[in-house]
Parts: sequence; structure tokens; C-alpha cells
Amino acid sequence: MALKQLDHVRWLLDKDFKAGMRVTGLIYGDSYIIQNLEKEGALEQIANVACLPGILKHSYAMPDVHWGYGFPIGGVAAFSMDDGIISPGGVGYDISCGVRVMLTFLDQDEVKPHIDELTAAIFTKVPCGVGSKGAIKIGESDLLDVLANGALWAVKKGYGTKEDLECIEESGRLPHANASYVSKKALERGKPQLGTLGSGNHFLEIQVIDEIYDENVARRFGLNLGQVTVMIHCGSRGLGHQVCDDYIKVMLRAMTKYGIKVPDRQLCCAPLKSQEAREYLGAMQAAANYALANREIIGHMVRDVFLRFFPKAELKLLYDVSHNMAHIEKHELDGVIMDVCVHRKGATRAFPPDHPSLPEKYRPVGQPVIIPGSMGTESYILVGTKRGMEECFASTCHGAGRVLSRKAAMKSEDADTVLKRLEQKGIKVMADQMGTIREEIPEAYKDVSRVVDVVEKAGISRKVARLRPLAVIKG
Ligand code: 5GP
Ligand code: MN
Ligand code: MN
Repeated sequence: MALKQLDHVRWLLDKDFKAGMRVTGLIYGDSYIIQNLEKEGALEQIANVACLPGILKHSYAMPDVHWGYGFPIGGVAAFSMDDGIISPGGVGYDISCGVRVMLTFLDQDEVKPHIDELTAAIFTKVPCGVGSKGAIKIGESDLLDVLANGALWAVKKGYGTKEDLECIEESGRLPHANASYVSKKALERGKPQLGTLGSGNHFLEIQVIDEIYDENVARRFGLNLGQVTVMIHCGSRGLGHQVCDDYIKVMLRAMTKYGIKVPDRQLCCAPLKSQEAREYLGAMQAAANYALANREIIGHMVRDVFLRFFPKAELKLLYDVSHNMAHIEKHELDGVIMDVCVHRKGATRAFPPDHPSLPEKYRPVGQPVIIPGSMGTESYILVGTKRGMEECFASTCHGAGRVLSRKAAMKSEDADTVLKRLEQKGIKVMADQMGTIREEIPEAYKDVSRVVDVVEKAGISRKVARLRPLAVIKG
């Protein structure tokens, strides 16, 4: 086996594994996760990423790694601004797909008697499903404003509060967004979909905090046992998808133009210094702004419904973070602090204590990191660490990660059986499509506790609290 075990949770993929690897692979996992890796073709993908020009340190895989388009999901790769590249496959189709958690400051005993009506009311309010259209109607000039200003646009229009903004990555607005690089077709797809959840893996969940691992950090984050929380997972809808599609074509041409060779066409990319890269970065971050606005709007809708049921509820935003993104960030390499382009695809940024981009209230402890599990299992709140900053460009896992393909999951159980099974566990599920429930059975994902234990043992983030689902809305 080409993998060398470094300790209980770290594995090095040697450069001998594949011709052309410029750096080694660094994989976080226990023996079960590592066994799965080879079966799925993800190992080959980690090696392929290691072949890309200008890659720094390692091609990383988080313990929720599995096969993805070009880059594995759960992959992290940072590139030099001088001779590195940017690649749409390293961000993914759902640009800035991500999660937020809102704290209600309500106890589960207050909420539980109303959970059915509450969930139904949210389900009615928040549009979901494949082609779902928004409750919000906007014209082209507003859409361009969304692409330029992200969650700031939402707050300006009354969908959300100023206090929310400091708890969104980059304060709710990506710095390199440029809507003029977004195609007409992408704009058309995005216009009717703002304020919608989407389908499949995207969800809205009412949860309760059922375990605290770090009292000090939990206090700082405002988390206490028995408190009800809301988690929202969605992204940039058809707009982001179209941007990715458009720029894969641009990158394929750019590779010929710049003479870049990659082991898999799905890794198509352009030098960070090229015009093509500037255009992709601008369009991609504009799509990310759409996603940030989308989550802010949905968060606002949920707040409205909660306040109707519980006038004293607060719904404060804990944090909102993408797990499909490329950011230009400052990192220290060989003692020198420099800008690098960090791709996180199905991986979460996790800044350590004292990082300048954190809101003041979190600086003493580090960034909240949100790790969803599945509709039938727990989810986690983690916190970023210094070790993660130094070792893997401030990154950690983004979820449990799939073990069954959608097709395989569909075959295993009918929707009614799944719903009954979850109901027995005290989890109410509502979905736009019954098929989604079958695709998304808890067994389709790895054991999230296992995944989170790996990143904690590795010291690249730390457990703060565990969240148990009370009700789940699926697209
Ligand atoms: P992705 O963005 O890769 O589709 O999904 C992120 C993660 O969300 C998955 O790896 C999975 O662990 C988690 N997940 C998927 N569906 C649900 C759900 O309904 N509830 C919760 N809490 N987590 C989910
Ligand atoms: Mn996602
Ligand atoms: Mn997504």
C-alpha cells in the first residue's frame, strides 16, 4: 500500500503512488475510513490533485472524503499566487454550498409541544424542491446587487439584521466578486430562485443541543444543553451550477493556451495570474454572494415563523460558513506570511483563536465550525485550532460524507419505512419529494461521530457541542 501511517489519524500518500505528483497527499482518517478510500477512487483523485501546478505542502483529504467531480469531496488544496492555478472542480458545482446555525434561546420543552405545527409552518414558508422558485421577486438590477453584496443586500432589504453580518464568513460579502463575469444564462437561472432551499442533500433542521464537550467555548458561542437550534444547509442554486459549467469550458481552453497538463480533464484550471482565473474568481465569488444572501433570506424566514410561535425567541446567528469555496487567504509558509489560493471542496474553513477575520466575540476561542451528520443522526459544532491553521490551511471536514451513492441508497428502503423509523427516534421529517428521503437515509452517510473524532484527534479542530435533530425539512 502506498499509504504510510504517520499516527492514529494521519496517513501520507507517497509521491511514488503516481507519476507527476508534485507533493504528497495528507489524509486524515481511521482504519475504516482509509479502507473505504481505495474502493471509491478517491485515493486516485487525491493523487491527481497533487499533480497540479503550484500546489503547496500537500493534497489534503478530510475524513469525510469521497469521490467528486475532479477533486474529491473532502479535499483541500492551496496554490501559490505566483505559479499556482485555480480550478472550478476544486470548488464544486454548488458554489458556496454551506451551513449556518441559529440559536433560538428556547428550551426544547417549550418547543416540543409545537414541533409539528412549527415545522409545517416553516415548510410552507421556505420554498424547497428541485426547481423551486422564491417567495422573493427581484429584477436584474437587484440580482446584480446580490452578486456584488451578498448578505449585505439581504440585510439592506430587511431580510436579516446587521448583527447577523459579523457572524457570516467575510462579513457576508466576498471580496473578489465581479458580476460582470457571470453569464446571462446563469443570471436567468438564479433570478427566480433566490430564497429557496433546493433539493436532495439540502435541508433545514430544528435541533436540540444534547451534549457539550467544551464548557468554556460553548459559553462563548452561546450554546447550552437543551437549547433549540436551527441548521440550514443550501447553496447558490442554478446560478452557481451554471457558473461552474460555464467556466469548465473556459478552463479547458485555457489549458491548451497555457500548455497545462493535468491527469484528468475534470481538473481543468488556469494560472492564478491569468485573465481566465480572474474572471472565474470574480464569477465564482459572485455566485458565493448569492449563496450567502440565500442563507440570510432563509434564516430570516425561519426567524419570522419562530417569532410567530414564540415571541420571546431570539434566533441569533452563531455562524454561517461555506464548504465549497476558493478563498485568497494569508498563510505562513517557511516563516513567510503570504497570499495563497485555498480550495476547499466539501471542506470547511476553521480559523484559529486570534485570527483577524473573526468577529471580536469569537477571537479568544476560534471560529465556530458546523458539521452536519444526517437527517437521522447528530450534527456537531466544532472550533478552529492553531494546529489546523499551521498544518492544513485552517481546514476541517464538512459533514459525514457519503458512503452509498444516491442510486444505491434509493434501492435500500421505501420512504414510509424510513419516515416511521425516524419518527420512532423522535425525528419528524417533511420533504418536497419522497424520493429524496430514500436517497438521504442516514445509512447513506458515514458515521459522523467517527469523522469528527478523527479531526479532533488530529487536533485540526475541536468538539464543542452535539446537536440532535427534532425535525428535518428536506428539499
Ligand atoms: P454535501 O454538502 O456534501 O452534500 O453535504 C454535507 C453533509 O451534510 C453530508 O456529508 C452529510 O453528512 C450532511 N447531511 C446530509 N443531509 C443531512 C440532513 O438532513 N441533516 C443533517 N443534520 N445533516 C445532513
Ligand atoms: Mn453542501
Ligand atoms: Mn450543495
